[in-house]
Amino acid sequence: MSRKTPLLPFDFYSIKSKITLFALLATLIPSLTIGWRSYVQNKRFLSQKITQELQKVTSQASRETSLWLKERLYDLKVFSSSYVVTENLARLQGASAGQIEDERAVRGLRDYLGSVRAKFGDYEELTVVAPNGMVVASSAQLPGPVALPDGWLDRARAGEAAIGSPHWDEALRAGTLVVSQPILGADERLLGALAAKLNFHVIVESLASDSGPDLSDFYLVTRSGAVVAGTHPVPVTSRPTKAALPPDLASRLFAQESAASEYSSPRGVAVVGTLKTVPGLSLGVVAEKERRLAYAEIYRLRRTTIWLVGGLLLGVGSLAYLLGLSIVRPLDTLIAGAAKVATGSLDVDLPVSSRGELGYMTEVFNHMVEQLRLGRQELGEANQTLRERNQELQELSVTDSLTGLFNRKHMWETLARELEGYKRHQRPLAVLMIDIDHFKRYNDTHGHLAGDEVLKRMAEIFRSSLRVSDYAARYGGEEFLMVLPDTDSTMANQAAERLRGLVAAENLASAGPAKITVSIGVASTSGHEEEPESLVRNADTALYRAKKAGRNRAFVFEAGSTGPS
Ligand code: GH3
Ligand code: MG
Ligand code: MG
Repeated sequence: MSRKTPLLPFDFYSIKSKITLFALLATLIPSLTIGWRSYVQNKRFLSQKITQELQKVTSQASRETSLWLKERLYDLKVFSSSYVVTENLARLQGASAGQIEDERAVRGLRDYLGSVRAKFGDYEELTVVAPNGMVVASSAQLPGPVALPDGWLDRARAGEAAIGSPHWDEALRAGTLVVSQPILGADERLLGALAAKLNFHVIVESLASDSGPDLSDFYLVTRSGAVVAGTHPVPVTSRPTKAALPPDLASRLFAQESAASEYSSPRGVAVVGTLKTVPGLSLGVVAEKERRLAYAEIYRLRRTTIWLVGGLLLGVGSLAYLLGLSIVRPLDTLIAGAAKVATGSLDVDLPVSSRGELGYMTEVFNHMVEQLRLGRQELGEANQTLRERNQELQELSVTDSLTGLFNRKHMWETLARELEGYKRHQRPLAVLMIDIDHFKRYNDTHGHLAGDEVLKRMAEIFRSSLRVSDYAARYGGEEFLMVLPDTDSTMANQAAERLRGLVAAENLASAGPAKITVSIGVASTSGHEEEPESLVRNADTALYRAKKAGRNRAFVFEAGSTGPS
């Protein structure tokens, strides 16, 4: 009965492993569940917070950009209706007043535009154009062609401003927008338009400084994805494509206006961003926050949770392992002890190392073994007594109580057995039938107790004169029978004579003058079939003859002689 040795160092069926596994699961499942729930909640909460922050920034920036545009348009309206502009333009378009006059008018316009341009940083270039699109005067030193907004003339005729589309001006290295205001003469006649190339640089800088330090990026983007102005290195690049959002991302941001999206920013960083369109412009304001920074709190929480759960697992796992050990160790000792008892050895006394159930169980086990030991000892003693008693009984059953010689029953059994053996080996065997002479008379004279003493003493004489192989039994009242193995009739006769002589010589009749003698009948196996009964009968016949012949003598049986009648 041996325990199955595990093939793996981790024995799943061991109590220790089960306790450890249970403790680990009991720690892991709630920890992970709670950790996951709190992670999800925190992330949702943080996402909402980030979205709100971004929305706030973009909404405000969008409003301010729109307002800025309105102000610029208003300024332009003021400039376009200024006396200097209308007078000089009207003069140029009226009947030619001469080359010198025209040049003066143009110079007047150019000076005015230059002074405005110098005063307001938002204007990259101011141009006065004729209704046919020709540049009349510009604030630039070397005026180039002006990309007026689509349909500017129609709008100008209607007395309204025209707004172009924002774009990246590679020459200026800036995001620009061309807007125009009509220039009307005194009679409301359209004289031309005042076009301004607006630079987004100033407004974006002021917006960015308002947006707070938390943002990683903040910029204006067109519907096609071109970044026209913004913080960080975005537009400051010789390759505008690099400062652009992929078209599908741009259209997605415009489609999901105000919603927070996660994507890779033009700088190649994972960000959370949101877009808000600027009213009146095909432009969106984008505010971005680096994902790593935005969710820093979440990442910290996740790290802390992992450490905490790891620590818990280690702690609880170790405790559970120790608990398992504290149960398994005494159990192993108990199992080893029980196995030893099962093999039959009761030499077991287990150390009680732990308190509690297992300690109590060990004590009970020790007590049980002690009881078994005592039981076994008692059983051994009882067996010994029983053996002795049996021995005694055995002796009693075959012994004559008065003389201590074998009894008659035993004699027959022995004789039959001996005879079988001697017949098989063709060896001689003799029996002597001994009878005390006139014993009745002795009893009558000295009493039966004295007679008993004589019987005892007689037995002693027989015993002391026997060979080892000889056998003596009390046959009846004062009759004895002896079995002499390996003895033929002559030797038996000699033995009978010797016995008779011994008895006669012994002063047995101490209680009185009468002499005790015995008569002996001798019979031996004659070679042919012989039964115990016939042998005894023959000895008896010989004894009868000895008595008849006068007693105190031994007679050998002779075939043909008569027995007792
Ligand atoms: P004999 O054999 O010489 O012919 O004469 P006997 O007197 O011995 O005759 P018998 O054999 O008939 O008598 C046997 C006597 O032995 C009878 C009885 O008183 C006595 N006897 C038998 N058994 C015991 C015994 O156990 N104790 C005593 N004291 N006497 C016994
Ligand atoms: Mg007799
Ligand atoms: Mg007699």
